[in-house]
Amino acid sequence: MRTIYCVEDETGIRELITLALSTADFEVKGFEDSTSFYAEMKKKTPDLILLDLMLPKVDGMTILNELKNNVDYKNIPVIILTAKSLELDKVKGLEAGADDFITKPFGVLELLARVKAVLRRTDKKIEEEVLTYGGLTLDYSKRTLHYNDNPVTLTYKEFELLYYMMLNKGIVLSRDKILQEIWGYDYEGETRTVDMHIKTIRQKLEAVGCTNYITTVRSAGYKLDEQVEL
Ligand code: CA
Repeated sequence: MRTIYCVEDETGIRELITLALSTADFEVKGFEDSTSFYAEMKKKTPDLILLDLMLPKVDGMTILNELKNNVDYKNIPVIILTAKSLELDKVKGLEAGADDFITKPFGVLELLARVKAVLRRTDKKIEEEVLTYGGLTLDYSKRTLHYNDNPVTLTYKEFELLYYMMLNKGIVLSRDKILQEIWGYDYEGETRTVDMHIKTIRQKLEAVGCTNYITTVRSAGYKLDEQVEL
């Protein structure tokens, strides 16, 4: 079941959206402000976010910018909800990375049509993101990894890291570069974090018989060789 989060401070609209989407077989969670929304985001991310722009405390545009600047959240499609005549908001929202907008007041059918259209569009984009390397198959949308037919369970960061390496096979990736890409520029961690994640990925791969895939390049970083010997 697809999950949708809806950030909307007006109780009536939030309840209408929740009811309409759950009737259409979506799992919906409503939030009245950014605090409760982010608390849930840390636990689980949804397939799509409906975001009202006029919110108390932190407004929707600020939230949108935060989402699009966060490596963990930036690929989640966002539909913004705007009041009738605020044309400029729509433009700003789309420029900031929103996928679509819905103008209030709106009908249930329009809501469903927009949600489904955005999910179809993003699904298509993600469908192509099945990467293979040697016997490894990584499906980014399903967030699964298999070595031959054996599933390998990775944590979120391990998965992102291996995906990044598979996208860049044959290229030496420095620890700093990996930190920036996977943990974000603001991350105040050390490069040792990267080493620890590489170590656990290797252990998990070795456990299913997939050995020596990740090469350590002395004083440079890590890489996946262009060709893997089977
Ligand atoms: Ca509002």
